[in-house]
Amino acid sequence: MDYLPVFLKVRDRPCLVVGGGEIAARKAALLLRAGATLKVIAPEIDPDLEELARGGEIVHEQRNFSPEDLEDQVLVVAATGDTSLNRRISELAQARALPVNVVDQTDLCSFIMPSIVDRSPVIVAVSTGGASPVLARMMRARLETLIPAAFGQLAQLAGEFRDQVKARFAQPVKRRRFWERVLEGPVAEMVFAGRADDAREALRGALAADEDDAAPAAGEVYLVGAGPGDPDLLTSRAIRLMQRADVVVHDRLVSDAVLRLARQDAPRIYAGKSRSRHVLPQESINELLVRLAREGKRVLRLKGGDPFIFGRGGEEIETLAEEGIPFQIVPGITAASGCAAYAGIPLTHRDYAQSCVFVTGHLKDGTINLDWDALAKPRQTVVVYMGLVGLPVICEELIRRGVSRDLPAALVEQGTKPRQRVLTGTLTTLPEIVAKAGVNAPTLTIIGDVVRLRGKLRWFESFSTGETEGPG
Ligand code: SAH
Repeated sequence: MDYLPVFLKVRDRPCLVVGGGEIAARKAALLLRAGATLKVIAPEIDPDLEELARGGEIVHEQRNFSPEDLEDQVLVVAATGDTSLNRRISELAQARALPVNVVDQTDLCSFIMPSIVDRSPVIVAVSTGGASPVLARMMRARLETLIPAAFGQLAQLAGEFRDQVKARFAQPVKRRRFWERVLEGPVAEMVFAGRADDAREALRGALAADEDDAAPAAGEVYLVGAGPGDPDLLTSRAIRLMQRADVVVHDRLVSDAVLRLARQDAPRIYAGKSRSRHVLPQESINELLVRLAREGKRVLRLKGGDPFIFGRGGEEIETLAEEGIPFQIVPGITAASGCAAYAGIPLTHRDYAQSCVFVTGHLKDGTINLDWDALAKPRQTVVVYMGLVGLPVICEELIRRGVSRDLPAALVEQGTKPRQRVLTGTLTTLPEIVAKAGVNAPTLTIIGDVVRLRGKLRWFESFSTGETEGPG
């Protein structure tokens, strides 16, 4: 993070804008919205500023800037259009530890102003750290459409009842659930429909009627597919439940970028498994989920890819069902789909593959227990999960069953993540290419004629990042 996001209180405090142009006027308007006591220093000012000065909303001093102007200010904006003057103001302000923003000169700013979505008292601020204000504005536009116009009113209503609800529910968990029911239920809908008074009445009713605080809150488990790594590949439902969870139990495959989207104050429990080092045996993961749910918690069991594809999700819910713990299952993008899409390799294709099989290439005592004859069939794509160590064995076995030595194959390393790499070759060459390249788990192998299409689908390259083509 290059900047610390904060919300500054400037209400009734002296703020200074130096410069009187259009941009200065925009900054002034923003400061006024936040209640600042504003002085503008400029030899000439924009008609908008003139009007504000006439109405007594700002004080305009018609002259050039002088260093004493910074005295007793809490914030300063330099918008003079004169680069060296802007620099001087910035230096003087920073020497006094006075927050300073210089329009369009990030290097001279001690703070920058984000793009905002204003649903006061709810404010959403978006910043790209000065890298691309246009991008920030585009994000803002998207957020504007996502957040109902009356969101601020809903927040205000919640604020009115905050103390009462706090007194009513001693347990923080219960309190939070009450608020979630209110803010996601009919009360919120009434506010959004412009019926604030009805909403207030309904909220009062809910507060009086809510069941006994002493009863233990019922826990539940969300078994959620986290996808292969890129957080953009999460489903909306996954994100919603990630935000509701009280505790997160995740495995090694879940990327940091995804984990960051889970509720920030929910503790994370790592239940990862690596190929040979089992951090928590499967038994205790199941028990852990049951125990946490019994404590009344909403447990987010976050699993890489899809929970039901080589994810042992089935075993986990079996235990939950036996123990009578309520659960939800949210599918995720499995590694095969994610890697194939991001590598530009279609898994099926009219001319090359009418079927696609997913297998695990997990090596046990030097061998892999798979139905090789079935995998050697033509016109199908074979996707191998957990097949890095076993890659030479897999290629050898297929060739032994009569598959062409020249059948194309690709290995996708860290698929969909910023460091994704795709190595392509044939059954004969790929193991060596991979050994030379020195790859890191997780990797996925795609075997079949569809891999040829990768070269054709050049349009795709612009979407992928940090990818290098292997030899062969
Ligand atoms: N449930 C998961 C698979 C778990 S098995 C899913 O549906 O994707 C673990 C294997 O998945 C890894 O050994 C690797 O083969 C594959 N895998 C998971 N994420 C991957 C990624 N980002 N890139 C490449 N392979 C991945």
